[in-house]
Amino acid sequence: MSQRETFKDAKRIVIKIGTRVVTGTGPGLDDDFIDNLARQVARLCERGCQVVLVTSGAVHLGRRALNYRKSNEDISMRQAAAAVGQPELMRSYMEAFRAHGLLTAQMLLTQDDMQDRHRYVHLSNTLETLLTRHVVPIINENDSVSVEGVTFVENDILAAMIAAKARADVLVFLSDEEGLFTCNPRTNDSAKLVPQVLPEDDVTRFAEGAGGPESRGGMLKKCEAARMAADCGIPAVMVDGRIPNMVLQVLDGDAVGTVFISRESLPGRKLWIATAARPNGVLVVDDGARAALLRPDGSSLLPIGVTEVRGDFSVGDLVQVQDTGGREIARGIVNYGSADVDAIRGHHTREILSLLGHVGHVEVIHRDNMVVATNGRPGSCS
Ligand code: GLU
Repeated sequence: MSQRETFKDAKRIVIKIGTRVVTGTGPGLDDDFIDNLARQVARLCERGCQVVLVTSGAVHLGRRALNYRKSNEDISMRQAAAAVGQPELMRSYMEAFRAHGLLTAQMLLTQDDMQDRHRYVHLSNTLETLLTRHVVPIINENDSVSVEGVTFVENDILAAMIAAKARADVLVFLSDEEGLFTCNPRTNDSAKLVPQVLPEDDVTRFAEGAGGPESRGGMLKKCEAARMAADCGIPAVMVDGRIPNMVLQVLDGDAVGTVFISRESLPGRKLWIATAARPNGVLVVDDGARAALLRPDGSSLLPIGVTEVRGDFSVGDLVQVQDTGGREIARGIVNYGSADVDAIRGHHTREILSLLGHVGHVEVIHRDNMVVATNGRPGSCS
């Protein structure tokens, strides 16, 4: 059975809605789109599905209301725009969904909510409670309080994280592109739609450069997000959300858009490691350690393989593991703080006691607390 066929049995669906889909071409929101989306979600709920929305559009709406252009925007203006636009966005969803008998709930999230495991557990519990009570959670980044440099930057990654955390059966990206093309379809007539992307396919050359003025993500980020979800075990589909009933078509298994075929799903702890927003530091490893980590039956990270420590982190923090070329090859939870790793790096495990005066663990990161990048691509860990 193809993966698209399995979408017919999907029970939990995350739908990401791009700014250009929800706002359409008019000055405000595209009410027809929102009404059609509400209708589709109502149909899915009747079938017993649970649906989570991740929506953009607040900043764009706020910019319009405040009457300024993106080109002269600073961070406080963007935050103000989000604060103005978000209630407007939410009101439209709430009214449209209510007309189809559905209750909605707003959840505004920051990176810290994804980073901190306690907050993450609360977030998951809230989501579960809403879904079991047949409420449709509508999520956006809390742009008006997000700190510069630690924003998600675009909601595609947020949607992938939510899909992974909610253990969704499928993630659907609704944008104004039909899917992923072999090159930019707006500038190149020979562009062909890519119907399917396998876990080992490298599609960065297809995706570069796409994306319009109102979207901060672009196709490259969307691919990164789709890959993150697929590597966590959740197939992701990119489709043209402007076409009515597109979500239902995806869930009927129709050959629409581009599907990112998923790997086997990850256990809970590894899922959190793979999708936590922001590692606290970086460990650079030598070629021997790199090879050992990337083997299918790969090993834990030992002190001897670490050549450099960057950042200030404590025991239990999430860190990124990079090779000497700066590529992310893994991420995991460290058994030692940054000062201790710096002291034992390059040394044999039997030397830990004399170097630190104590031995906590023989590994810097145990294999059970690590996810390894599939193609040496950042954000694509399994
Ligand atoms: N959170 C932003 C908004 O609601 C969208 C960021 C994006 O994905 O472009 O406007």
